Amino acid sequence: MGDKGSRRRPGHPAGDGAMQQGIEPFPSPDRWHDWTEVDVRDGKAHRYALVPTTCFNCEAACGLLAYVDKDSGEIRKFEGNPLHPGSRGRNCAKGPATKTQAEDPERILTPLRRTGERGTGGWAPCSWDEALDDIAARIRAALVRGEPEKVMYHVGRPGEDGFTERVLAAWGVDGHNSHTNICSAGGRAGYAFWMGYDRPSPDYENAQVIFLISAHLESGHYFNPHAQRIMEAKKRGAKLIVLDPRLSNTATQADHWLPVWPGSEPALLLAIARHLIVERRLDVRFVERWVNWADYLAAERPDLPVTFDAFLGALEDLYGGYTFEYAEGESGVPAADIQAVAELVAGAGTAFAAHNWRASSAGVLGGWQTARCLFFLNVLTGSIGTPGGTSPNAWDKWVPRPPYMPPHPKHWNDLTWPAEYPLAFFEMSFLLPHFLLEGRGSLDVYFTRVYNPIWTNPDGLVWRQALTDESKVGLHVAMTPTWSETAWYADYVLPMGLGGERHDLHSYETHAGSWIGFRQPVRRIAAAWAGHPVDDTREANPGEVWEENEFWIELSWRIDPDGSLGIRRWFEAPGRPGEKMTVDDYYGWIFDHTVPGLPEAAAAEGMAPLEYMRRYGSFEVERAVYGRHEDPIDLGAEDVSVEAGTGLVFGAAPGEPAMNIVPVPLTPGDGPGRARLGITVGENDARKGFPTPSGKLEFWSPTLRDWGWPELAIPAYVTSQVAQELLTGPNDFALIPTFRLPVLIHTRSANAKWLTEIAHGNPVWIHPDDASRIGVRTGEFVRVATETGHLVNEAWVTEGIRPGVVAMSHHMGRWRLGEDAGTDRWASARVELEETATGRFRMRRLEGVKPFESVDPDSSRIWWRDAGVHQNLIFPVHPDPVSGAHAWHQKVSVTAAQAGDRLGDIVVDTGESRRVYREWLALARPGPGPGGMRRPRWLLRPLRPTADAYLAPVPAGPATGDKPADGKVE
Ligand code: SF4
Repeated sequence: MGDKGSRRRPGHPAGDGAMQQGIEPFPSPDRWHDWTEVDVRDGKAHRYALVPTTCFNCEAACGLLAYVDKDSGEIRKFEGNPLHPGSRGRNCAKGPATKTQAEDPERILTPLRRTGERGTGGWAPCSWDEALDDIAARIRAALVRGEPEKVMYHVGRPGEDGFTERVLAAWGVDGHNSHTNICSAGGRAGYAFWMGYDRPSPDYENAQVIFLISAHLESGHYFNPHAQRIMEAKKRGAKLIVLDPRLSNTATQADHWLPVWPGSEPALLLAIARHLIVERRLDVRFVERWVNWADYLAAERPDLPVTFDAFLGALEDLYGGYTFEYAEGESGVPAADIQAVAELVAGAGTAFAAHNWRASSAGVLGGWQTARCLFFLNVLTGSIGTPGGTSPNAWDKWVPRPPYMPPHPKHWNDLTWPAEYPLAFFEMSFLLPHFLLEGRGSLDVYFTRVYNPIWTNPDGLVWRQALTDESKVGLHVAMTPTWSETAWYADYVLPMGLGGERHDLHSYETHAGSWIGFRQPVRRIAAAWAGHPVDDTREANPGEVWEENEFWIELSWRIDPDGSLGIRRWFEAPGRPGEKMTVDDYYGWIFDHTVPGLPEAAAAEGMAPLEYMRRYGSFEVERAVYGRHEDPIDLGAEDVSVEAGTGLVFGAAPGEPAMNIVPVPLTPGDGPGRARLGITVGENDARKGFPTPSGKLEFWSPTLRDWGWPELAIPAYVTSQVAQELLTGPNDFALIPTFRLPVLIHTRSANAKWLTEIAHGNPVWIHPDDASRIGVRTGEFVRVATETGHLVNEAWVTEGIRPGVVAMSHHMGRWRLGEDAGTDRWASARVELEETATGRFRMRRLEGVKPFESVDPDSSRIWWRDAGVHQNLIFPVHPDPVSGAHAWHQKVSVTAAQAGDRLGDIVVDTGESRRVYREWLALARPGPGPGGMRRPRWLLRPLRPTADAYLAPVPAGPATGDKPADGKVE
């Protein structure tokens, strides 16, 4: 089967493991327009159009090829796209499972409007026009009243770069909200305070040593693209080190698995750093050239000369106490094992690839220091921007510019960016219901988009309180491809497309290179190839399922039908004023004008760039990207100047950046038309450097000092809320509630029957010693209690978890309040929710998963009954006072279940939730900061407002809060 087509085309890495001599694993791209093969399910030959798109089931956006039957229009399967530079033809189970999501008999096929009280489950179909007119009128009214802050868009899975931020900017609304602070905020902050960029891009495939504080072989951020490169490195002989209290699938592949106590990772990492420093096993040239050590000495060690040797001595003073033995005491990992790993790191040279994603950075108070301490190892070894090392993510990500950019919003949204968290990465999204309930504001229109905060966020029942109060949330619009616990509390439920039913453009840092991937509605494209073009994606999708881009364009026109608000012009076709922009206009312009090499590659095949992207679905922009910080700046160029004292280099601005990415910091030297270009690192030697205030890697962060956290301005170890010394009760444990299962999609796998059949339970992992102490065996019920409530679940006794720690996967426990509606029945238990006393709730399972009748015969064959147990409802909010990240890990009491307990019981006291919220809020050290600013302008922020909006409306005051002198925060 298949033939030998062209093996290498500009813009594609074909041949890199995907296309081989002999039997080919993929049909040749030359045949994608017309491919015939036998489907084993019916034994018949089918003629297909193979339409590339990208997967929407995690952030990696791997390439997919949809096999669209030319006769029936049916999508018969999804396979990998061999031309995609990130995924190279490979997918995890969730990619092909897109088919089951699309065909799910439970999916929402028409817009629905609430009938009856919000949250009581009454729905009636409505037209798109009716929904659009109502939503548009409310947004228009808020804008005309001068209250743009009453409009908020809250996204779970973005899956695209910039389209929606551009929409919000066009409306003049600082209303972007995301899930980042329940996910990656801690990791981002740790990296950003070092280098300005907020994520790492490890070059796994060329590494000698790979160090993961994550589970990247099964569930990392760019899971499949990363996993395949890690395994290739391992096959080559690279060593894999994994820190995880749990024996994850990733840990099983490690050469060194260190089952560290959750939250103690910085102690272990600083012990490795100490080893590198004391033994002088560090890259002296790199550290001396690129770290702001002189600033540190000048500010913090005036007793020392400003020399690099003095800095090394200062490092020994700072970290001398972090011996391997000390790290063993904190982490529980034997000192000899830590030493062995330290030796590996020291021997890796600059081929040291490291990644911290979620794990303790999303788990504990001060978790952002885990990322900061891990990157310290990259800094010391000089493995930044090197082959096999770790680069800033932005070097390996290409974000094209859209046709024309609206101006930045002119106001600041205090509901998402409150004064208490001036350094947060990013919006304080999980505090929104608390803010609404305490009267900080209200919303006229609240969009949740592929997001399920009642289920996904901590304090779900406080979310429920806010969402059912129409004085707090005037209109809730759920844009979703599937039912969710949150959509149940919406006024409109709008059916949005899956991976093969929508347009999106994206690029992610999967390796040392950059690419763009194009998601497309595959039946629409197949129809166009067959000579039946459609103008609206709804015409090709199932039912009335739409895509968001066309929805946003249409909604924007209805908000400003005559153009008088200045909104409509941003949605007019480039070059055709007064005419509505189409998705072809939008993406066609981008591909024509902003992707280097794409027009030429397309022309070489006789195509327009848009046609080329529709044909192949991806384009490789660059490969082998390293060392961008060393890019030279021409000091002799016209208009280039060097700032006295700082050595920062300024010059003509390179043009307006995309809204969501600012390549250089907005520092005081910026002005109209001018921007930071780089930093001098020697006489007449200027380089691009890093987008930090100093232009260098900031071992010592003046920003942290100036904004109230001087004791945490350097890589440091913070005592967490689950530190061993705090677990004093006989049944106290640290609960890890964050780990993912490789085959599930956060809260969207309930409509993927293939995935749900594979995984549908989340028992409590508990070590045999602990299980025997509390008297439970596998399958018996335990009660897990937090500060605000408890749940009842089954125990799974396993040596795969370290003693003293218990763990539950976060995917499970889907529930529905309706008999046959609310959440897909493939995965949800039917429950009742009762308020047993004021603010005290009990959720009790009425029945588990069971077969049901539908057009899909498989629904009557469901053999599993388990739906798992939801845990997030019993978690109060734990906002880290610096990064703003929710600290997910919980101090819990675990006991054998009590009389009357039933599997799936959940009890929550929302009064206690409010108390814990106030307790953690009190840890914050509010802004404004220097200059009366709400937030440092150089820090990343989605949808940056104008410079004026950064100024706080109240006079600057001193930072508040306790500041222990010993560098530890209790
Ligand atoms: S890793 Fe799996 S879920 Fe994620 S984009 Fe790739 S195929 Fe889809």
